[in-house]
Amino acid sequence: LVRAVNVTKSFHGNEVLKGIDLTVHRGEVVVLLGPSGSGKTTFLRCINQLETIDGGRIWVDGDLMGYREDEKGHLHHLTDKQVSAQRRDIGMVFQRFNLFPHKTALENVMEAPMQVKGVSKAKARARGLELLERVGLADKPKAYPGALSGGQQQRVAIARALAMDPKLMLFDEPTSALDPELVGEVLRVMRDLAEAGMTMIVVTHEMGFAREVADHVVFMDAGVVCEEGTARDVISNPQQERTRSFLRRMR
Ligand code: ATP
Repeated sequence: LVRAVNVTKSFHGNEVLKGIDLTVHRGEVVVLLGPSGSGKTTFLRCINQLETIDGGRIWVDGDLMGYREDEKGHLHHLTDKQVSAQRRDIGMVFQRFNLFPHKTALENVMEAPMQVKGVSKAKARARGLELLERVGLADKPKAYPGALSGGQQQRVAIARALAMDPKLMLFDEPTSALDPELVGEVLRVMRDLAEAGMTMIVVTHEMGFAREVADHVVFMDAGVVCEEGTARDVISNPQQERTRSFLRRMR
């Protein structure tokens, strides 16, 4: 479903991604690990075109992201409108939940399908209630974000992303801003989603989640993929010294 080939990205001459390759099959969960500053967030943002890439290519479900390739193999930037259309099929959940503070949980989930897809209010509401139930918040449709815990807000954010029926979900450290006792409820929702067959790329430091849920684990360091494989390969039996020293620090 996702193929990234030799992706490079610099900020002001600082090369943050130095040729990243990644393949994610449909229904797979890929966990990205790596120290702070290794480029994990930047790479996720490149996949859904929140950042443009400097080199390489990224395809999602066969679509070349951000560009059109002509017969001679030259790339042309897509228009903003075309990029938005590509982005619509990719759900993203951030470290901070970024809910609309003046809208209820249900209104937050209903917003994008109504605004972007022109779904009727009645349909958006029915689907919104269904999704809130799916993330364990059937009793909170009328709650405002300020009245919800961080874990509940993050679950609303997941429901909001799912409301667009994404092909792919990107999670950027979804539990790292949460109090420890709230982490489990968010991971549980993510695990359910994985079991339901959602294709997911997850940046996280939660090794238990990586070990139990990931089909594939990718360890990034300093803008390159340093090591990848099954969780058993990468987490339980790392081959590279850089992976080993990272994992030692995580314990
Ligand atoms: P973290 O776990 O801290 O989020 P990360 O692995 O996700 O780390 P990135 O956030 O992708 O790493 O950052 C990689 C590098 O790119 C960092 O050195 C960061 O300062 C730099 N960087 C990221 N975004 C920008 C930007 N918009 N402008 C300039 N530099 C940036």
